[in-house]
Amino acid sequence: MSSIAFIGLGNMGGPMAANLIKAGHTVTGFDLGPAALEAFAAAGGRKAASAAEALAGADFVITMLPAGPQVRDVWLHQGGLIDVLGKTAGAKKPLLIDCSTIDVASAHAVYEEARKAGFDMIDAPVSGGTGGAINGTLTFMVGGSEEAFEKARPVLAGMGKTIVLAGGPGMGQVAKICNNMMLGINMVGLSEALILGERLGLSPAKLHEICAPSTSQSWALTSYCPAPGVVPSAPSNRDFAPGFMAALMAKDMQLSQAAAESANVPTPLGALAASFYQKVCDEGEGRRDFSYVYMWLGDQDRSDFNK
Ligand code: NAD
Repeated sequence: MSSIAFIGLGNMGGPMAANLIKAGHTVTGFDLGPAALEAFAAAGGRKAASAAEALAGADFVITMLPAGPQVRDVWLHQGGLIDVLGKTAGAKKPLLIDCSTIDVASAHAVYEEARKAGFDMIDAPVSGGTGGAINGTLTFMVGGSEEAFEKARPVLAGMGKTIVLAGGPGMGQVAKICNNMMLGINMVGLSEALILGERLGLSPAKLHEICAPSTSQSWALTSYCPAPGVVPSAPSNRDFAPGFMAALMAKDMQLSQAAAESANVPTPLGALAASFYQKVCDEGEGRRDFSYVYMWLGDQDRSDFNK
């Protein structure tokens, strides 16, 4: 069993760290939020007073932070993780793992700094939501060397079920933003159809019964239906408490659009869907689940989109 430092114990990191503890690893954690740190301690984790303090003796260092700026901050700033590890790790070099969803450029920047300091690193963003984090069934999409991937695999297996090497450094993030662009567009598309059906007299529950086993089937429809009263475990049945916050989906859609821009790839549906999640956030609903876009769309008028 390994000694693991885990930084970022929020909606995802908290249950992921708890599963590592259950798997028998010794996990030392840090989060800026006292409530997250207390929940981690209640799950059997060792609390650290800072991210740097959590590193002592670690075989693996894992981060699960909101976005690129926090990841750069925690790993790269003076007194950040790479700086501290460079001064304290000695011959024992931990493998560095970032599980956050971030922009490809930040993933490359952190990887390069780690490499220069003599550490191997992988980007290993996840799919599967908080349910997958709690149940240990996440999908990990990994960017890095095969050697680092094989070393990380037993640890990732404590938190997930499907673990795939996508390619070299940064390729985990490429896979993740493509996955979330598909999901973000899909959620908007099925929301439009559910609203259309309802306005034409067909209830969301009936349309769900017909479509879930049909050609329009998708995870968002079958497991995460945005219309309340259809799928009991979906966030729509707990007043859209996340789940996966609309603000994070807006961030991921934005990341996909920035990547599409830099690669000169046309993604018109992605761009439109991104603007919808941004509007949900602009109206103060960013902390709700991303499936709230269904409610937002239901409040719009057709003429709003004909301009
Ligand atoms: P979250 O906001 O619940 O958790 C992030 C945690 O990081 C918070 O507890 C915050 O206090 C902590 N944090 C921020 N800055 C810190 C710092 N400098 N030092 C220590 N801790 C710090 O977010 P989340 O839902 O857990 O998402 C984390 C990442 O996982 C994001 O990149 C998100 O896009 C990705 N993700 C989320 C889901 C989901 O369903 N929630 C699914 C897949 C991927």
